[in-house]
Amino acid sequence: MTDFLPFTRPTIDEDTIAAVVAVLRSGWITSGPRVAEFERGLADYLGGTRQVRSMTSATGGLEMALKAFGVGAGDEVIVPAMSFAASANVVERLGARAVFADVELRSRNITAAAIEAAITPRTRAIMPVHYSGLAVDMDAVLELAARHGLRVLEDAAHAIGTRHRGRLIGSFGDVASFSFHANKNMTTIEGGALAFADPSLALPLDRERFHGISKDAAGNVDVYSAGGKYNLTDVAAAVGIGQLKRLDEFNARRRELAAHYFARLAPHLPADMLPADGEGHSWHMFAVLIPFTRLQTTRDAFIAQMRERGIGLGIHYPSIPGLTYYRQQGWDPAAFPNSQRIGAETVTLPLFPAMTPADVERVCDAVLDMTKL
Ligand SMILES: *Cc1c(COP(=O)(O)O)cnc(C)c1O
Repeated sequence: MTDFLPFTRPTIDEDTIAAVVAVLRSGWITSGPRVAEFERGLADYLGGTRQVRSMTSATGGLEMALKAFGVGAGDEVIVPAMSFAASANVVERLGARAVFADVELRSRNITAAAIEAAITPRTRAIMPVHYSGLAVDMDAVLELAARHGLRVLEDAAHAIGTRHRGRLIGSFGDVASFSFHANKNMTTIEGGALAFADPSLALPLDRERFHGISKDAAGNVDVYSAGGKYNLTDVAAAVGIGQLKRLDEFNARRRELAAHYFARLAPHLPADMLPADGEGHSWHMFAVLIPFTRLQTTRDAFIAQMRERGIGLGIHYPSIPGLTYYRQQGWDPAAFPNSQRIGAETVTLPLFPAMTPADVERVCDAVLDMTKL
C-alpha cells in the first residue's frame, strides 16, 4: 500500500527548524527582532511600496482592517457567497452586515458586475477573495470602488505570490490580508499580515493589534483605544522568514503540479468540472466539481472511497449563505446559484510542493475511474 496522500502538507526545511530553535534559546520569544525582519521581508517581497503588519491570523487582520475603515453597526460589506466563512464572519462580528454577491462558476471569483448589483446606500466596503490563488479582476473592482467611494479589503488568504496583470496582489490597491495558516502557500503555523499604503491606517492598526497602546514623544506608554491582542511571536516569524525565502519556488512547483492535473484531466472531463487557469495564478488549491447526483453517489461516499485509495480530499467551501448562521440572517443560498453549485460539488485534490508527478498520476487515475458515467 502506498503512503496516504493528504490534500495538503507544509514544507518546513531544516534551516527553518534551526531558526526556530535559535529563537527559543535566545531569551526573547514573543514579538521582537524576528517579527520586524519578517515584516521587512514581506514589504520587500511586495515591491517596497507598502506598509506591512503581521498578526496572529488573517481573520484577525480582516477584522482589524474593517475596524480601521470605521465599519460598524448599520454598515454593509459586500462579500462573495463562495469563500471561507471567516470572510463574512469578520463583518458580522463588528455589528455590520455581510451582503453576498455570487461568483463565476469556473474562476470561483466575484465580478465587478455582481458587486455593483449588491451596492446599497449602506455599503462601506468590498471584500474580493482571490479564490484558490487566481486574482479577481482588481482593475474593475478598484474602478467601481472609486466611483462609489468604497474601501476595498482583499481577502488574499490564498494569494501570496499571485499576480494580477503582472502586479503582485498586495502591491497595489487599498488593503490586502494574507493568511499564513498551516495549509496556505506559506505558513507561520498560524498567522497573517496586512499590506496597505494609506498612512492613516498605521496608527489604528498598531493600536488594535496591541491593547490600544502607543508611546508619546517622551516614550511614555498610554492606552488610546480598547485595542485587541493580535501580535505574532518571534517563533512564528522565524518560520515565516524561512517560508518566504522559498515562496516563489513553492508557487512555481504548485503551478507545475496544476499544469500536470490539467494535462491529465482536461481531455476526459467536461470544462465545467475543472477550475479556471489564468496568468499569475499561485495555485493554492486545485478544486474540481463532481456531479455527484448524476454519478448516483454523494460527496461523503466519494471522499470515503478516495480515502480507501489512500487519497485525502478537502471541501473548500460550502456556500456561505447556506450555512446555518447566514440562513438565520435571512439569506437564501438559491439566490447565488454558482456558489450553491460549487458548494455542493466541490472537492479539493491534493496539491502541495512536496508532491511528485507520480502522486498527481495516482490522483488522476482515481478521479477518472470514479467519474466514469
Ligand atoms: C484561511 C482563510 C482565511 C482565514 O485565515 P486564518 O489565518 O486562518 O485566520 C480567511 N479567508 C480565506 C478565504 C481563507 O482561506
